[in-house]
Amino acid sequence: MSDDFELETLALHTGIHRSQFNEHSEALYLTSSYVFDSAAQAAARFSGAEPGNIYSRFTNPTVTAFEERLAALEGAEACVATSSGMSAILSCVMGLLSAGDHVIASRSLFGATVNLFNNILKRFGVETTFVSATDVAAWQAAVKANTKLLFIETPSNPLTEISDIAALAAVARKAGAWLAVDNCFCSPILQRPLELGADLVIHSATKYLDGQGRVLGGAVLGNRELVMEKGIHGFLRTAGPTLSAFNAWVILKGIETLKIRMEAHSANAMEIACWLEKQPNVARVYYPGLASHPQYELARQQQKTGGGIVSFEMKGGKEAAWQVVDATRLISITANLGDTKSTLTHPATTTHARITQEARDAAGITEGLLRIAVGLEAVQDIKADLARGLQGL
Ligand SMILES: *Cc1c(COP(=O)(O)O)cnc(C)c1O
Repeated sequence: MSDDFELETLALHTGIHRSQFNEHSEALYLTSSYVFDSAAQAAARFSGAEPGNIYSRFTNPTVTAFEERLAALEGAEACVATSSGMSAILSCVMGLLSAGDHVIASRSLFGATVNLFNNILKRFGVETTFVSATDVAAWQAAVKANTKLLFIETPSNPLTEISDIAALAAVARKAGAWLAVDNCFCSPILQRPLELGADLVIHSATKYLDGQGRVLGGAVLGNRELVMEKGIHGFLRTAGPTLSAFNAWVILKGIETLKIRMEAHSANAMEIACWLEKQPNVARVYYPGLASHPQYELARQQQKTGGGIVSFEMKGGKEAAWQVVDATRLISITANLGDTKSTLTHPATTTHARITQEARDAAGITEGLLRIAVGLEAVQDIKADLARGLQGL
C-alpha cells in the first residue's frame, strides 16, 4: 500500500493478499500448519532461506494481514501480533531484556502491567523503578547504567495523565535505552508515538482495535531490527503467546471502522466530560480534552482528540461512587473499555484492587474515583443514566 493513503483508507485496504478464489473480504485461515512441495522446500522454510508459513505459532496469513494493517496505521516497519495486550508487553520485555537490566516505568500504568513489572519480572532479575508519568526530570534522574527500557502509557489509565512522548524519547536516546508506549487509549487514529520518537508501540487490540468487546489480542510495533531480529518475534515463535487467526480476523474487521469510531467516542466523551464538570457532587473530572486538564496543551500537541475515556471523582468517596455505578441501567458495569457500549468501573476495587494501597495512593486512585469508557450510544442517554446516581445523592 502506498504511504500516500490516509489512515481510514489504509485501515480498509492494507494487508489483503487474495487467494485463488479472489475473495473481497479478508480470508480467515483456520489452519495450524502448512504443507511443503518437497523435502527441500521444507528444509528451506525451516532454515529461513525461503520465506513462507510453517506453523501458526510462528505466522498465519490472517494474523499477518492484521500485523501489516496495524503497522501501516502506526507508521511502523514491523508488527508482531500477540494473544492479548499483556502478552504483547511480556513479549516485548522477554524479547529485549535480560536479567540485570533495569526498566523505568510510569507509576500510572494499567494494574496488570504494574504487577508484571513488580512481581513477575523482578523474579527474573529485571528491576523496575516507577516514576511520575508527567515529571520528565524524574525519568532522567532514574536512569542507571543498566537502564534498557522506558515504559509509558499515555493517556494513562484511569487518570488520563499525559506523558511527553518526545521528551521521554530524548531521555531514552541519551541513556541508550528504548522507549515503549502503550497506545491503547488513543489508537493510531489519535496518536502515533513512533513519529514522536518512541521506539516501540504496544497495543491491547482487545480495546479500540476490535472495538466491539469480542476478542482478546495485542501487538508490538517498531522497526524491523527491534521487532523481528532482536528477539520479540523470536520469543513469540518459541514461547507461543500467538494471536489466533480467528481473533486476528475479528480485529481486522474492527480496524475498518476505527477512525469513525474513535471520532464518535471522542465527541461523546467530550460532551460527557463537560457535563460532569458542572455536576455539584463531582469533585473533579479527568479528561485530556478539557481546558482544566493539567496537560491540556501537551495533549493537544500529541493527540488529535481527548479520546474516549473520562474519569471523575465523587465528593462522597466510595459510597457515592458505588451509588452512581449501582443506579445505572444502560451503562455496563464492567472493567473493559474501548467497546461500542459504555462501560463504568470503580478502579480502586476492581482494575487496581490488586496493587498495594501505597501504589494506589501514589497513582491518585482514590475511593471516589470512577472511570467511564464512553460508548457510541446517544449522548443524552448516557447522561441520563449517570444523572440518576448523581442526583440520588
Ligand atoms: C487492557 C489493557 C492492557 C492489557 O490488555 P489485555 O488485552 O487485557 O491483555 C494493557 N494496557 C492498557 C492501557 C489496557 O487498557
